[in-house]
Amino acid sequence: MTTKSRADRASATALPESELALFRRQQAFAPSLRSTTARERIDKLERLGAALRARQREIERAAAEDFGKPPEEVALSELFPVLHEIAHAKRHLKKWMKPRRVPPTMAMFGTRAEVRYVPRGVCLIVSPWNYPFNLSFGPLVSAIAAGNTAILKPSELTPSCSRLIAAIVADTFAPDEVAVVEGNAEVASRLLALPFNHIFFTGSTTVGRIVMKAAAEHLSSVTLELGGKSPFIVDASADLDRTVRNLVGTKFANKGQTCVAPDLVYVHESVREDFLARLKARIAHVYGADAQAQRASPDYARVVNTRHFERVKGLLDDALARGARLVAGGDTDAASRFIAPTVLTDLAPGSRILEEEIFGPLLPVIGYRNLDAVIREIDARPTPLALYVFGRDRKRIEKVLAGTVSGGSCVNHSVVHFLHGNLPFGGLNASGIGNAHGVHGFRAFSHERAVLVDRFSIAHLLFPPYTPRVKALIRM
Ligand code: NAD
Repeated sequence: MTTKSRADRASATALPESELALFRRQQAFAPSLRSTTARERIDKLERLGAALRARQREIERAAAEDFGKPPEEVALSELFPVLHEIAHAKRHLKKWMKPRRVPPTMAMFGTRAEVRYVPRGVCLIVSPWNYPFNLSFGPLVSAIAAGNTAILKPSELTPSCSRLIAAIVADTFAPDEVAVVEGNAEVASRLLALPFNHIFFTGSTTVGRIVMKAAAEHLSSVTLELGGKSPFIVDASADLDRTVRNLVGTKFANKGQTCVAPDLVYVHESVREDFLARLKARIAHVYGADAQAQRASPDYARVVNTRHFERVKGLLDDALARGARLVAGGDTDAASRFIAPTVLTDLAPGSRILEEEIFGPLLPVIGYRNLDAVIREIDARPTPLALYVFGRDRKRIEKVLAGTVSGGSCVNHSVVHFLHGNLPFGGLNASGIGNAHGVHGFRAFSHERAVLVDRFSIAHLLFPPYTPRVKALIRM
C-alpha cells in the first residue's frame, strides 16, 4: 500500500493550475525557511513595514472607496496595529525563537530537554472585509516571524483593498514565499481543499465551521478568529462620562463593523436614564445631532454593502416592531448605505438584535438590577469574543470576571486589548480557537517540537526482558 504525500493529495483537487502551482512552489520552498535566522525574518518584516508606509495614501483611498472609511481610522485601525506588530516582533523575535529549556521531571532524570519552535510550513490566511489590511497583514507578520510561507485570501467584499493587498504583496515578496489569491467564497473553498500545514481564518462563526471541516480533511491545524456578541456592563459605580466616551468611540468606529465592538449593553437600572442621556449627547457631539449632520460627518464610515445594510436595518426594524424605545438615531438611507449611530432600549425578549451579532451601528441597552442574573445570562450564551465591565467597585468587577468567560476582556476600557502586543488575542469555542498577536501569534504559526537528549538516564533499565530487578522497580 502506498501512502499519498501531501502534494499528491493536492493534485487530486479541482484547482486551477495556477493556484495548485503556487501551492506547490511554496511547498518546495518552505523547508528552506526552517533554518532562517531572526535577522533574516526581521528583514522581511521591515520590507513589509516599508511597503505599507510608502503606500499609506493608496491604502486610505482603497478603504474609502470600499466603505467610506475615514483616513484617520485607516491609520489608527489598519496601519498602526500592523506596524506595531512588526516593531514588537523585531524587538522580541530572537527571544521567541530561542529553544526553551525545560527541567527534567523525576522519571526523566539524566536527560536534557527543550522545546524548539519550528515553522509549520505552508500557511493559508483567509481574512474578512472589516479591517482588510490589519487582518491580512497582522497574521502575515506572525507567519513570517515564525518562518512560514503564506497564501493570503482577502475578502471579496472590499475589492479595492483586496487588489491593493495583492499589489503590495507582489511588490514585496517572491510568490514562493508570500502570495495573494483574490476571490470569493468559491475561491476560498478551493484553497481550503489544499493540504495546508496551518490555516489562519478570521471571519464569521458560520464560515469558521466550514473552514474547520475542510481543515479536518488534511488534519491541518487551525487558528479561528471568529465573532460573537460582546457584552458591555455598566455598574452603578461607573464614571458615566468616561464610560460613554469610551463606548461611543469604540462602538461606532468603522460604523460598528468591528469583531470586538460592544454589542449588548447592560446598565444598572439606578443609572440607566442618566447613562442614556449622556450617550445621546455624546453621539451628537461626535457625529452630529441629526441624520443630516451625521451623514455629512467625515468621521463616519459606511455599511460595506447592500446585503449588510439590509441585514442591519432588518435588526433595527424587528426591534422597533416589537416596541423598542429609540434613544438616538434610527435614520437609514439605502442609497448611501447610511445607518445613524443608533441606541435602543426597552427591548422585547426574543428581539433578533439581542440574539444575533449586530456588526453595525446599533446599540441595544438593557437595564438590570441583579448582577448575578446578568452573569448567568452571559454564561448561557455562546462564549463572546470580548467582555467589558465599567465601574469603580472592585468586588463587583471581580465578580463579573470570575463569573463569566470570554476571549478577552477590558475593565474600564473596550476594544484596546486588541492593541496590547503581549496579550493573546482570540476567542473560545463559538468565538474562535487559538490566539493571535506577538508571541502568541508567533506560536500559532509554529510547531512546538519536543527535543530530548539522553545523557545518563536510567530508562533503558526498564526494557525487556523484565527481570526480577525491573519487576521490583515498577512495583508502585
Ligand atoms: P465571512 O466569514 O463572511 O468571510 C470571511 C472570509 O471567508 C472572506 O475572505 C470570505 O471570502 C471567506 N468565505 C466566505 N464564505 C466562505 C465559505 N463558504 N468557505 C470558505 N471561505 C469563505 O466574514 P466577514 O463578513 O468578512 O467578516 C465579518 C465576521 O468576521 C464577523 O462575524 C466578525 O465578528 C468576524 N471577525 C472576527 C475577527 C476576530 O479577530 N475574531 C475580526 C474581524 C471580523
